[in-house]
Amino acid sequence: MSVSRPGALRRALVLLAAWSALTVVAVSSAPPASAASSSVASPRAHRAYVVTISDPRVSGDVSAATATRVTRSAANYWTSESRGAITAFPVKSTRTMRISGSCGLTATQLWSRAAKRFPGVDFSKKANHLVVYSPTGCRYGYSGLANAGTLHSGGKVHMVYPRMNLVAHELGHNLGLMHSNLRTGKGSSTRTSEYYGLYGPMGIGMGTGYAPGALGAAQRAYLGLPGEARATVSLDTSKAQTRTVTLSPTHTRGGTRAVRITDKRTKISYYLEYRNARGTDAGAYYASGLFGPLTVQYRSVVYRSGLLATQAKRRGGVEVLSTGRSGRWHTTHRTGQTFSSSGVPFTATVVSQTATTMKVRISVKRSV
Ligand SMILES: [Zn+2]
Repeated sequence: MSVSRPGALRRALVLLAAWSALTVVAVSSAPPASAASSSVASPRAHRAYVVTISDPRVSGDVSAATATRVTRSAANYWTSESRGAITAFPVKSTRTMRISGSCGLTATQLWSRAAKRFPGVDFSKKANHLVVYSPTGCRYGYSGLANAGTLHSGGKVHMVYPRMNLVAHELGHNLGLMHSNLRTGKGSSTRTSEYYGLYGPMGIGMGTGYAPGALGAAQRAYLGLPGEARATVSLDTSKAQTRTVTLSPTHTRGGTRAVRITDKRTKISYYLEYRNARGTDAGAYYASGLFGPLTVQYRSVVYRSGLLATQAKRRGGVEVLSTGRSGRWHTTHRTGQTFSSSGVPFTATVVSQTATTMKVRISVKRSV
């Protein structure tokens, strides 16, 4: 991993939050930028330590059983999505703190008190995760908060809502990932909407019943997850070229799951993947098919299965790229449709698709 080493740098407290309706991100100082890893992460077991709060002055105490179940579910998600890098992620212990007026305490204060329940456990660099659940009656202005970590650093999470997709999102920050954003528009009207790359755990937690969806190709590459290099077709812009690639769905474990196109001039990497609304993606918001376009900052955005194009961003972030058609911004593309986006040095046309494979023709422009 080429990501930051928490022990070697001032372990900046980067506060990150996901909120159902509004978004809050406070970055007090940031770790150094790092490029996608070229090495493969070594496997390691993680552990979660869960703390709930019993507070007689506010409603909505989260029970130890609920907190344990939701944490276990989110941890299992990461065991699966890390594709072998996290070998196990059990909930080691659950404790309850009795605090009257707990809503007045900051996350840092709660973490400090909670950590004392587990003497000798290091939550800063040993793949140990401390997850504190405040009563749902507290108002913190966020639904969850985490440290920015690295894959095996561990870290601390503060939850205000005990929802699996929100806990998975915050644990994703502990693992070193930033948000999944959305790009719409062309040229000077290009806009990035934070959290609205709704194809994985690092977007906004939509609704109450949705699963996070599979971790996407750009973030798998950033973390250096096992098997990614073998499952990725890599192209670059050193010469103009056209390639046809048959993709397996991004959540699967075999075949070609991603195409990476690296712009030799800008050093930016782009990824193509096939989201087929099955497997790990079956419970994701985009797979529900229940909704029409979503209005994101006054733009009409379509989320559904198809070919997804993303751009790797700094510090493990990702941006979903969309194509404008008929007054809407389409985040995915189907048979006969072409992905193109201003400033992006390739186009990708879906030649054909079945429920489980997609043939894509990629035309790369020279850019050196
Ligand atoms: Zn977040």
